[in-house]
Amino acid sequence: MKDLLNFTVGPVMSCDSVRAIGSEQVPYFRTPAFSEVMLENERLVKQFASAPEDARVTFITGSGTASMEAVVMNVLSPSDKAVVINGGSFGERFVQLCRVHGIPHHEVKLAYGEPLAEEHLAALADKGLTAFLVNMHETSTGVLYDMDMISRFCRANGLLLLVDAISAFLADPFDMEALGADVMITGSQKALACPPGISLIVLSPRALERVEGNETRCMYLDLKSALKNGERGQTPFTPAVGILLQIHRRLQEIASAGGAMSEIQRVKALASDFRQKVSALPFEMFSPSPSNAVTALRPVSGSAYDIFTTLKDEYGIWICPNGGDLRDRIFRVGHLGALTTEDNTVLVDAMQDMVKRGLMG
Ligand SMILES: *Cc1c(COP(=O)(O)O)cnc(C)c1O
Repeated sequence: MKDLLNFTVGPVMSCDSVRAIGSEQVPYFRTPAFSEVMLENERLVKQFASAPEDARVTFITGSGTASMEAVVMNVLSPSDKAVVINGGSFGERFVQLCRVHGIPHHEVKLAYGEPLAEEHLAALADKGLTAFLVNMHETSTGVLYDMDMISRFCRANGLLLLVDAISAFLADPFDMEALGADVMITGSQKALACPPGISLIVLSPRALERVEGNETRCMYLDLKSALKNGERGQTPFTPAVGILLQIHRRLQEIASAGGAMSEIQRVKALASDFRQKVSALPFEMFSPSPSNAVTALRPVSGSAYDIFTTLKDEYGIWICPNGGDLRDRIFRVGHLGALTTEDNTVLVDAMQDMVKRGLMG
């Protein structure tokens, strides 16, 4: 399969050093050397998430949703009442998980592209809530929620704050300690720019207490056992060893380039460059508060899905189509992974060419 220039939101393009690891033999993992790698992965993830010193990290073999499910099953229980912010397909996923696992919940349903506002939170008073579930960046619409506002609300009401930052980690600033967040989830195929297959959960001391106190409801996603094994840099079962080695390389490279903030700045610069270059084309920004990770655009006329297909088939470029109700209305352009401003130019030139050919606009 020919490599396409990839502006989707995951899997994204990996740098050469990460790809090189993918071509090597996968080593046996019950070794001190692999434990060292895992302990350093934990240390760097904590550092990049600004997690409290006594926070822990678990590495789950499974995509981001596996870690979302592990959090719902291990941190919450049927005696909780969670509020779920549902602004798109990832918010909907938390609603479904609460339903499947019998977690009482209240849904705040937002229109596609609508930011969360103080009014929505004010309406939650007296609902007997114990936990707040949110996708920091609702990747399906490109909306970045106001985490400082959410954090103030959670502190004022004594709620656990559980954050799916799967597409926001290393793309938008996230300070776990300053926000008082109890959980941060991310995945290997977003800003970590590795192949899909690993997701990870950072747990605050308060979340760790919850895990210890809750009944085990699933063997494979049991965080008690993941945490116990993690103390010595191991996992209960065979993990996606190769991807964990790739994550290790990537974390080390981010550390030597200046840490999380420098990576966030890089992604932000790519997003600004693209937004500026695309501003003359017949698209409207879909979200008033976009994440650095993604730009969601609405074509002034024509089908968004057709633009995705033409770019793929005729220009060798992948943008990210939407599904469901938004299929023909918006498409998304990602800024995660090994992309450059020259790549942005290639994409915008292709779009300009489509306008010239009368294919859109
Ligand atoms: C990508 C993503 C996920 C995880 O999806 P998987 O396909 O399970 O990896 C979850 N939440 C958000 C906000 C995402 O962007």
